[in-house]
Amino acid sequence: MSPRPHFLVLTFPLQGHIAPALRLARRLLAAAPDALVTFSTTEAAHRRMFPTKPADNPQAAAEPNGDGRLEFHPFADGTESGYVRGSDSAAFNEYMASLRAAGARSVGELVDALAARGRPVTRVVYTLLLPWAADVARARGVPSALYWIQPAAVFAVYYHYFHGHAGVVADHLHDPSFLVRLPGLPPQAVRDLPSFITESAEPHDRFHGAYTAIRNLFENLDRDAPKATVLVNTCEELEASTLTAVGAYDVLPIGPVLPAGDEAGLFERDDARYMEWLDAKPADSVVYVSFGSLARMVPEQLDELLLGLEESGRPYLCVVRKDQVPEAETEPLLSRNGMVVEWCDQVRVLAHAAVGCFITHCGWNSVLESVACGVPMVVVPQWSDQRINSWLVEREWRVGTRAVVGSDGVLRAAELRRCIGMAMRREGAAGDERSAATELKRRVVEALGKGGSSDRNLMAFVEGVSSGVHV
Ligand code: UDP
Repeated sequence: MSPRPHFLVLTFPLQGHIAPALRLARRLLAAAPDALVTFSTTEAAHRRMFPTKPADNPQAAAEPNGDGRLEFHPFADGTESGYVRGSDSAAFNEYMASLRAAGARSVGELVDALAARGRPVTRVVYTLLLPWAADVARARGVPSALYWIQPAAVFAVYYHYFHGHAGVVADHLHDPSFLVRLPGLPPQAVRDLPSFITESAEPHDRFHGAYTAIRNLFENLDRDAPKATVLVNTCEELEASTLTAVGAYDVLPIGPVLPAGDEAGLFERDDARYMEWLDAKPADSVVYVSFGSLARMVPEQLDELLLGLEESGRPYLCVVRKDQVPEAETEPLLSRNGMVVEWCDQVRVLAHAAVGCFITHCGWNSVLESVACGVPMVVVPQWSDQRINSWLVEREWRVGTRAVVGSDGVLRAAELRRCIGMAMRREGAAGDERSAATELKRRVVEALGKGGSSDRNLMAFVEGVSSGVHV
């Protein structure tokens, strides 16, 4: 008798990686009623996700009434407290080296321990900064699938960059407006390419560890025969043209994955006062602002942001994490027209009828959540994949406006007001961003529904695992 399908979902310890990995885990469980999932991130992140878990029962905190199909077991990254952001420019690269060595060892032990317990892993699914996970799986004869949690367009850019097009990028780094032409993709300016290839290709670069991880990822995918499987958190309706730009692998768009109820994460939420506050606001009136889990800002940026929001005359809900503006005073955060919180349940906020637009740094999760809720965006991309994401939002789907920042990187209040005006324009009949966002939401909901494109792709993946065929 073949064992039950059992997915080991491994993820890098960032909020923007953990959330889509957990959402995929729950979708896998829903798609295959006999499937098991073991979810694993680093020990430090695991402790933040489950601060009160009893030591002898690791899954109890997450699944108090669970049926044992989903378990959480952390892996070691060779550190006590994970990667700590600081002034040491070598810290990230050292962390990535430690993660690779200790992580591979620890995940190998986890796979062995699960098998010894009679819960053998039948497919390893890993997010994008853990290329060594594929080696661990291969060494044990377990097939693996990459879970790409950025757009297919970004995957295609990296693919072509690491397959013969690195030179053209390297040759034009001094010319940010130079248009790079990659197969199957519209031309992209050098400045809009993922920052890990334009700013991290040299060993002394601060985030070179991410560059090498992504390079190793493609080396590993190329080794998988006959074709590597790549699940992508996007859908055909969002990225039809770029999805065909990488034919070397089985690329399966299965997203956008969304939360199913409350989900564990790395941040403590403010109490839900903001939901009551939203309840009291007219439909489509509130500007929601968040720059995700990592971005920081200089105090001047926060001042400009709050000034622009106040001057817009609209109510606003603004997330400012404790660590986001390190030198800022907390006093100026109290405002007349808006509410400032340290962290919220973003998907609940975006789904609230009062929210009229979303000012975002364009992290891919935020973009997908906004699209799934039909909320138009003002995009302020910063690094990594965010500028390509913002191109999708503004140019491909026309559901947002990209804000122009000054040469000092600061978004001024006047520009913010202009962009809010664009996102809040209501002309109806597809004449404005809200109408386009409503239409896009409809198509995404269809993709996720029974028989929709993402649903079919996920089922094909799950059925392939259940039958032992590698999709
Ligand atoms: N998020 C949240 N509450 C907040 C701010 C952000 O739950 O107050 C979540 C958001 O829903 C998203 C994630 O944090 O799922 C941020 O991921 P994203 O890819 O947008 O950006 P990153 O944090 O990786 O830069």
